[in-house]
Amino acid sequence: MREFAYARPASLADAASAFANGGEAAFIAGGHTLLPAIKSRLRMPDTLVDLAHVAGLTGIARDGDRLWIGAMTTHATVTGDATVAAAIPGLARLAAGIGDPQVRNRGTLGGVIANNDPAADYPAAVLALDAIVETDRGSYAADDYFQGMFATALADGEIVRRIGFRVPQAAAYAKFRHPASRYAVVGVFVARFADGVRVAVTGAGPGVFRWADAEAALSTDFSAAAVKGLTLDDGDLNTDIHASAEFRAHLAGVMLADAIAAA
Ligand SMILES: Cc1cc2nc3c(=O)[nH]c(=O)nc-3n(C[C@H](O)[C@H](O)[C@H](O)COP(=O)(O)OP(=O)(O)OC[C@H]3O[C@@H](n4cnc5c(N)ncnc54)[C@H](O)[C@@H]3O)c2cc1C
Repeated sequence: MREFAYARPASLADAASAFANGGEAAFIAGGHTLLPAIKSRLRMPDTLVDLAHVAGLTGIARDGDRLWIGAMTTHATVTGDATVAAAIPGLARLAAGIGDPQVRNRGTLGGVIANNDPAADYPAAVLALDAIVETDRGSYAADDYFQGMFATALADGEIVRRIGFRVPQAAAYAKFRHPASRYAVVGVFVARFADGVRVAVTGAGPGVFRWADAEAALSTDFSAAAVKGLTLDDGDLNTDIHASAEFRAHLAGVMLADAIAAA
C-alpha cells in the first residue's frame, strides 16, 4: 500500500484544515468503501483525515418533525436505537438489512451518503423522507443533494455533519438484495406524509431517483391496488451481471408493493 499521512482531528475546523493542508486528502469514516478503494489503488490519498474523534458527528435526536442522525452513526446503532424505532421504524429496518454485522458495526450513515453508491440503501430513505443533509458549510435538501452515480452536491473537503429525516405518518423500505453483498439490486422506499407521498428507488438506475407516477397514484390512494401494474421505464435502468434493465423494472413494481404493505 502507498504511504500516506494520518490526521486525527477533534473538531470540524481541525478536520477541514487537515484536509485543506493534506495534499490529495480523504476523510475516513468506517473505511468500508475507502479502504478497499485504496487497496485497489482507485484512491491514493496523501492524507487520511479520520472523522472518528470529531465532536458533533454522532447522536440521534428528534426535534419536532425531524429525526436527526449524526454522520458517524453506524448502521448497527441506527438498527437498535429506540428514538429511531419510535419515529421511523422503517429506517431502523433498512439499517438492519445493510451488509453483514461487520459492515453494520463499522459503516456509517455519513459515509454512505457522501459516497452515494447507486446500489446503497440509505439514499432511498434520505430522498423519500425529504431529508436535509447538513454539512460544515450549510445544508442541502435531498432533492438537490444526489446528482447521479457517486456524485453529490458536496464540494471538495465538505463534511457531512448530520441528516435530518422528516418524520412520516408511515414509511417502509423493501429491497431485492444481492445475495453476497446485500446491496440493493432494486430497493424502494415509500413515505406517506400529510401533504403527499414520496417514493425513491435505489439500485435500479445510475443513481437514486424519485418515482413520480407511483407518488401521484399513492397520494390519492395509499394502497398496493393503486399502483398495481405500474412499472418503471426500463430504458433508464441498469443492465449488468446481476440483472437486466427489464428485470429491474419488474422488481421495482414488486418492491413498491412490498414497501406499501410493510408501511
Ligand atoms: C461487504 C460490504 C457489503 C455492503 N453492503 C451494503 C448494503 O447492503 N447496503 C448499503 O447501503 N451499503 C452496503 N455497504 C456499504 C456500507 O454501508 C458502508 O457504510 C459504506 O461503504 C460507507 O463506508 P463508511 O461509512 O465506512 O465510509 P468510508 O469508507 O470511510 O468513506 C466513504 C466515502 O465517504 C467519504 N466520507 C465519509 N464520511 C464522510 C463525511 N462525514 N463527510 C464527508 N465525506 C465523508 C470518504 O471520504 C469516502 O470518500 C457494504 C459494504 C461492504 C464492504
